[in-house]
Amino acid sequence: MTGFEFASATPYFAEFIAAVLYTATYLTFVNLLRYMRNWNSTSRLEILTTGLIAILTVAVVSLSAEGADLISLAISTGFIIALSFPVAAPAIAFRPANRAVEFLARHGDHAGLWLLGPALVAGLMVPNSKLQTMLAAAMVIELSWFLRQRWAGDRRQLYPLNDRDVAVLKSQANGDLGAFRRRHGIRELALTAEAVNWKGCGKSTPPCPFNLYVNQLGLNTAPCCRAHMRDICHYVAACLRDIGAVHWLEGGSLLGAVREDGALLAWEDDVDLSVLLDADMSWDRLSAGLVDRGARDGYHVDLFEKHGLIAISFDPPKPWPFRWERNRMRGEIRVDLAIYRPAVSHGEAVLERRSYKGEMPATESGGYGLAREIVLPTSTINFEGGEIASPRQPDTYLRVLYGDFREVEYTYVDAAAAETRRQAELDGEHHLDE
Ligand SMILES: [Zn+2]
Repeated sequence: MTGFEFASATPYFAEFIAAVLYTATYLTFVNLLRYMRNWNSTSRLEILTTGLIAILTVAVVSLSAEGADLISLAISTGFIIALSFPVAAPAIAFRPANRAVEFLARHGDHAGLWLLGPALVAGLMVPNSKLQTMLAAAMVIELSWFLRQRWAGDRRQLYPLNDRDVAVLKSQANGDLGAFRRRHGIRELALTAEAVNWKGCGKSTPPCPFNLYVNQLGLNTAPCCRAHMRDICHYVAACLRDIGAVHWLEGGSLLGAVREDGALLAWEDDVDLSVLLDADMSWDRLSAGLVDRGARDGYHVDLFEKHGLIAISFDPPKPWPFRWERNRMRGEIRVDLAIYRPAVSHGEAVLERRSYKGEMPATESGGYGLAREIVLPTSTINFEGGEIASPRQPDTYLRVLYGDFREVEYTYVDAAAAETRRQAELDGEHHLDE
């Protein structure tokens, strides 16, 4: 008995396989999106795996004992490709993206359902039960994603915006908050005649998509997100102390601690910590310690060993397969934990990382690094209401990363929004001085 004969002898067997393969294509694809969310290059092996499963899906749908069904082949291929855009858009929009991607990302909770009409037409016109099953499986997945996002979104709690947040918001909105809210689809903004509030994100809601709000529209980080960043920063630092890993506040977070008297930068989009791997601390021990604690305490942990990065996010870890589906969310509250290792570069003892950061100089081995004595032994610094480990010479560290770091720069904000925000910050200072 050949495979085709077996498949045709067992009722609905081929249909079942088509649905399973489509689901596998979908899951491996959403799992790939975690690289984009973390601004890392995507693993070639994983791209290849996803591609092969997709090809297998299309083959099962369009091949039978009678031969190839070219119409089913074209429809299933086109459908999988078309659906990949709304699924991937939120992850692509983690970096400033073009208008089409932003549009799809903004409607990412339901944009997959826009293919419901074409799926119905194709299912009715083409008498291929395997194609019909694949299309139905895809639409069930999209519907389930939409319903879960909508249901979770209802549980937001109101946070008042402070004077400075409102001043920045008003200047970016050119005075008309209602029109600004509508134009950019800012569902979190709750406007009444008396007050400007923010429908805040939490553990059980989708996150605020502040990649758009902060990096492109030039708003201050939302009060809910700031509170969660503070919590997760101290949580991860406590885990690292517990595990016995040498660590320190890094990048924009260190900049806030030094320049803004222990506060997050007003436009902060993540928390940066770094950790040292050496003879006393291995990757396996560190990552296992963080994964265990994350699972116990309700934080999602993603490991990128090749890139020297561990991303710890505020949203709770979900059971498989929903664990991978979280990559469809627009934003996230995250600690980026960068790995440093001791090395010698040009005859000097350095601490070295794989990924580029600020203006950190390149090392002999092709990484990036700075002199060991700038960092070790670590000191402590006040940050967001608690003491946290910092490099031994935080000012020197920041000069290596950012040059004249006392000068406020809005480097990653859209140019026009940056200029408006500069003005708003100045106005805000005058206002607070009064
Ligand atoms: Zn938020």
